[in-house]
Amino acid sequence: MVFSSALIENAVNEFAKLPGIGKKTALRLVLHLLKQEPGQVENFGEAITRMRKQIQFCKYCHNVSDEEVCSICKAPSRNNGIVCVVESIRDVMAIENTQQFNGKYHVLGGIISPIDGIGPDQLNIYSLVERVKADEIKEVIMAVSPTIEGDTTIYYISKKLKDYPVKVTTIARGIAFGGELEYADEMTLARSLTNRLPLENYLQQGK
Ligand SMILES: [Zn+2]
Repeated sequence: MVFSSALIENAVNEFAKLPGIGKKTALRLVLHLLKQEPGQVENFGEAITRMRKQIQFCKYCHNVSDEEVCSICKAPSRNNGIVCVVESIRDVMAIENTQQFNGKYHVLGGIISPIDGIGPDQLNIYSLVERVKADEIKEVIMAVSPTIEGDTTIYYISKKLKDYPVKVTTIARGIAFGGELEYADEMTLARSLTNRLPLENYLQQGK
């Protein structure tokens, strides 16, 4: 691609770094912005800069938040006794969209995967154990991918929690989400949450 302006070229290159955006699409977006009022483009840039600079991660559940504690952890209407453990903040959004879950969350920030060099220490597992220790959590629902890595993570966490009076369950197996919870349709996801299984049953099914 040949540009007559280094400013345009620079902007195109930045857009093209985004997932799913090729050079052509990047150019289309940049030319679109060029047609806008400067103030509007400023708002656009500012929204992104502020989002990245000011975003926080909830000190309890590690979900994204505008404050130290996220709106879900703060909500008095939510059940403190149930915590749903997920891999990413996208999973929180997917489950929230079902409007079927009234407990709280714990975002691991990934999944145990030795091939990718991700061990338990890189994930928010210690803080989960601390929450179970300190709070009145009665049930921990493991809502992670039905993969070997997911099973490893479930097994590891369940071992860490075995000395506490907490029930560990998993969302129903066989749901075709494979680490992409947010793409599962809301009905399926809601059903797999409702039909969750005690951990022992889950492990037996996997055999
Ligand atoms: Zn939170």
